[in-house]
Amino acid sequence: MKLVIVGGGVTALAAAHRAVELARERGLDLDVKLVEARRRLGGTIATERADGFLVEAGPDSFLSEKPWALALCRRLGLEGRLVRTDDRFRKVFVWFRGRLHPLPDGFQLLAPTRLAPFVTSSLFSWRGKARMALDLLLPRGGGAVGGDDESLGAFVRRRLGAEALERVAQPLVAGIYTADPDELSVAATMPRFVDVERRHRSVILGLRRGLVQAPGDAGLATSGTSSAIGGTSSALSGTSGARWSLFVTFADGMETLVRTLADRLPDSAIVLGQRVGALERDGAHWRVTSADGARFDADRVILATEAHASARLLRYVDPALAVLLGDIDYAGSATVSLGFRRGEVPHALDGFGFVVPRSEGKALLAATFSSVKYPGRAPAGHVLIRCFLGGTLNAEVLREDDASLVVRARRELGEALGVAAEPGLVRVSRWPASMPQYRVGHLARVDAIQRRAAALPGLHLTGAAYRGVGIADCVRSGEAAAEAALS
Ligand SMILES: Cc1cc2nc3c(=O)[nH]c(=O)nc-3n(C[C@H](O)[C@H](O)[C@H](O)COP(=O)(O)OP(=O)(O)OC[C@H]3O[C@@H](n4cnc5c(N)ncnc54)[C@H](O)[C@@H]3O)c2cc1C
Repeated sequence: MKLVIVGGGVTALAAAHRAVELARERGLDLDVKLVEARRRLGGTIATERADGFLVEAGPDSFLSEKPWALALCRRLGLEGRLVRTDDRFRKVFVWFRGRLHPLPDGFQLLAPTRLAPFVTSSLFSWRGKARMALDLLLPRGGGAVGGDDESLGAFVRRRLGAEALERVAQPLVAGIYTADPDELSVAATMPRFVDVERRHRSVILGLRRGLVQAPGDAGLATSGTSSAIGGTSSALSGTSGARWSLFVTFADGMETLVRTLADRLPDSAIVLGQRVGALERDGAHWRVTSADGARFDADRVILATEAHASARLLRYVDPALAVLLGDIDYAGSATVSLGFRRGEVPHALDGFGFVVPRSEGKALLAATFSSVKYPGRAPAGHVLIRCFLGGTLNAEVLREDDASLVVRARRELGEALGVAAEPGLVRVSRWPASMPQYRVGHLARVDAIQRRAAALPGLHLTGAAYRGVGIADCVRSGEAAAEAALS
């Protein structure tokens, strides 16, 4: 069987690895080719070591609560190279009105679950707290009643009020999805909250009951990533004796996963620097051609590319499918990593980082105290801070050049943390059109995409565009595509 996988991000690699695993199990003669446009593998995953710092240009961790990435690490023999977050500093701050306020303990992404830290929190006004408490009394509404999708913004405003949205949900969601909560589908991104409302009516009560029933389980079935900061969604995981914290990474950085997956593939499988320009179908047979003219014949094709790239490749094969794929919008973002001597940063850095509500009018969406969150990210006596910029609500910032992004990041870190020193290390990474936006109705759109794709024998669509943007979801999606292709 000839299998061609287009793309070289974690989804494509997980698909290729699973296909090779299955072929070996089944004694199948498989010729697999993974064709990536760039000269490197990993897609948005990129790790760099410089001057004793370990800089993650893209994702810095993955969610352990969703089992697929962790299970893959176990199969690859990588568990011993994983590191957990330093849970002494699990706190996350919100930069509000010029000051960093800790997110109250027990705040589960959208709603409080513990009374005392919530009541005494400096982040919310009394009116805001009272409005959030109203969730205890409000009837069910919105999507939970009708079964329709609604935006995350509408959901939070309806249940917990505008303050919960503006000061917590919006900045956290910007840090995860780089998205506008008023456009984001609650069903596609936070199905757990929809389910909690459906079953328990009150989100706060439902979350609390969930904690009592499953005390070791952080249980937040968001389909999201580990957010720019991580550690926000639960006060539980990691303190309950679980081996892994909610977010985990590799001692040598996220590229460990990429390199290990690539090493497990046959030498001839990986083709770099070939941008696929066309797909042609002849019955159940496919031809994949790169812009440079390289041709690959295939019985099965897995497209593990961004939806906009898949749309271009399918525009002549199935124009209607291409339109559906093109309807999935993408946002861009940038990371600015800055290394300082510890003594140059006056703030205690006693947390994983901070998020910034849009109402603050800043360029930063969030900043992660990377060397506090994970071990081995900075040399002794130094700290690494990673700023996250851009996203749907702040797209214009990305038009500025790298030097200007660094100036903005330094200025705003100066305001938040009091650091004025020249950073010893500066790295800027840009990720244009790389984060899919799961807008209201996303799941119905994905169902329609899958129905049309099913009518094209041998074609499989996979990746962050569809049912989860996090690395764990991408691993699941890639492996499922390989299983379907070889079935
Ligand atoms: C800045 C940033 C931070 C993130 N942080 C986290 C995090 O901490 N934790 C987490 O779980 N997730 C995080 N995510 C999300 C996660 O990294 C991505 O969703 C995931 O890596 C996507 O993997 P993928 O393989 O589906 O797609 P991609 O990594 O986008 O790979 C797609 C690949 O397809 C290639 N391609 C496109 N068109 C063609 C073509 N025509 N021919 C050949 N190749 C083509 C591209 O070059 C690319 O390499 C983050 C994302 C970003 C951008």
